[in-house]
Amino acid sequence: MQSNKYKLLAIEDEPEIRALLQTLLEAAGYKILSAENGETGKMLQASHQPDLVLLDLGLPDIDGREVLRAIRKDSACPVIVLSAISDEDVIVQALDLGANDYIRKPFGAAELLARVRNTLRTAQGVIAASDGKFASDGLVIDYDARTVELDGTQIHFTQTEYNILALLAKHSGKMLSYSFICKEIWGYTDAGSTKKLQVNMANIRKKFAAIPNGLRHITNELGVGYRMQNKDI
Ligand code: CA
Repeated sequence: MQSNKYKLLAIEDEPEIRALLQTLLEAAGYKILSAENGETGKMLQASHQPDLVLLDLGLPDIDGREVLRAIRKDSACPVIVLSAISDEDVIVQALDLGANDYIRKPFGAAELLARVRNTLRTAQGVIAASDGKFASDGLVIDYDARTVELDGTQIHFTQTEYNILALLAKHSGKMLSYSFICKEIWGYTDAGSTKKLQVNMANIRKKFAAIPNGLRHITNELGVGYRMQNKDI
């Protein structure tokens, strides 16, 4: 991993966390820029075009979501939001505004570095992957034939189940919020569609579970959303 070529921007007002991010990421070979408030963060993002932004949502001057909106206006730069454990709704909003992932505070070094690596890989993979197939770690989804195979066994899914799987696969590596998935699948999001999503996911999981170690691809973050793992991008 040639991580030393990556330039990261951390927008975080708490000095201890900013110092921690700097220390951990520099030790891992990244270049790191820091901003202690949202306005400085927006400026540094625009002027330095970092490869990834770590964005605290609770900033002293402007709401972190405003910073995210400003970045998304003219950049597809990957953004990982940092948030306190109680901020589930805010995390979901951030994902819907285009954040690629989130990390709950307090976080460990291993988790931080894994999320950064994963997000950098995924951001590149999204641009590269377009051959009509998703293939990762034994799971093959053929978008033209609308078939799903796990470890060589074809699994039959309903139209809706397949559509959910294909959506997760097309955004693999990224955490998708319940509301994003519902909007994409049913065109709207409400309590009823979230319930439908949960029922469909339970059926999808049951079908994967029929294969030994078959549940390894999709993770569920309670109250937030689902993610399809992708080890091959
Ligand atoms: Ca803060």
